[in-house]
Amino acid sequence: MRSAEQLHTLLADKNLSKDLHDIAQKIKNEERITFDEGVLLYEKADVGYLGVLANYIREKKHGDTTYFNRNFHIEPTNLCVYDCKFCSYSRLIKERAEGWEYTMDQMFEMVTKYDGQPVTEVHIVGGVLPQYDMKFYSEFFSRIKAHRPELHVKALTPVEYHYIFKKAKVNYADGMQAMKEAGLDSMPGGGAEIFHPEIREQIAADKCTGDQWLQIHEEWHKLGMRSNATMLYGHIEQYWHRVHHMEELRKLQDKTGGFQAFIPLKFRNKDNQMSNVSEASVIEDLRNYAISRIYLDNFDHIKSYWAMIGRSTSQLSLNFGVDDIDGTIDDTTKIYSMAGAEEQHPGMSTRELVELIKHVGRYPVERDTLYNIVTDFKDVVFEEERPNYFALPVINPTATKN
Ligand code: SF4
Repeated sequence: MRSAEQLHTLLADKNLSKDLHDIAQKIKNEERITFDEGVLLYEKADVGYLGVLANYIREKKHGDTTYFNRNFHIEPTNLCVYDCKFCSYSRLIKERAEGWEYTMDQMFEMVTKYDGQPVTEVHIVGGVLPQYDMKFYSEFFSRIKAHRPELHVKALTPVEYHYIFKKAKVNYADGMQAMKEAGLDSMPGGGAEIFHPEIREQIAADKCTGDQWLQIHEEWHKLGMRSNATMLYGHIEQYWHRVHHMEELRKLQDKTGGFQAFIPLKFRNKDNQMSNVSEASVIEDLRNYAISRIYLDNFDHIKSYWAMIGRSTSQLSLNFGVDDIDGTIDDTTKIYSMAGAEEQHPGMSTRELVELIKHVGRYPVERDTLYNIVTDFKDVVFEEERPNYFALPVINPTATKN
């Protein structure tokens, strides 16, 4: 394994400081790093060192395998009762003219548009509005499942659930049970932002708190169900806020084991109330992926959204702990493009995704939402890639004799 040799070389480096050497030794021994060591990595470790550690863990867990999936997005509305300062996507209700509010029939039609297509998941997330309540979403999930039972419904975050359960006067446990019965299969990781109230109150004051976000995931996990987790980084938070965020996730994961993937989300500053805050550099993105991989030893997967960070950075991220690059195949989501993401029309065919992964020496595997293998693309050669020998002109005269 290349990464084992690299770690060995790093441990033999006499110029490496004692604290960084001790952390590298812990990774080799498969020991968990502490909160303070997490902060130290952010403050002191360079990108090369972090890449060696994160890639070692990534290859130990997954080898070269890199996952993607085929899904489509439905965003019921971009209007929202909340006013998160970093949000480029939502329009307040007073700006209704700039927004959209799909009816259930319109959203159902979007689902039927994919009939017969090899998608495995519908990802539903958007703004928060009173008419999209518990009854609405329960009916919508049930309608999807009645129409296409095998389509995995990954929908809504604790931001929506907290709001709709409160409105319906049900507690989190009963609410999540009802959603499961309606057809919800898993929860995406959004709405987490930064858990620590010192930051959360400045950037996302009114929506569910960090503790509430964690409680809703916990109730969902107790039902034997899976979810993801995100972290919005690179704005006004300090490094220790990021480590605090990951520490909370690591603790809950120890308790429930229900998280599948951790997804760091880069703060983008286009068209929002924090446009004065500069964005993190690509180096900082890579450092952050790597530290996530190192810190979250009990998470199976670290995911980068290629649509948000761009194709080149997502290729690079595969050497910094990431083993999953998501995989929206068309431009049904506006969340990234409206925030100023690299990809303004995030569409990529399966072949392009496979090539993107193969070009950096990794093995592409299409997964479903729960990481069951759908297609192993390691040795697949696409029809168009095969050389068409028969069309070549014959230039060897001996070959035409007889
Ligand atoms: S981040 Fe979500 S909850 Fe906050 S304003 Fe935007 S859509 Fe609403």
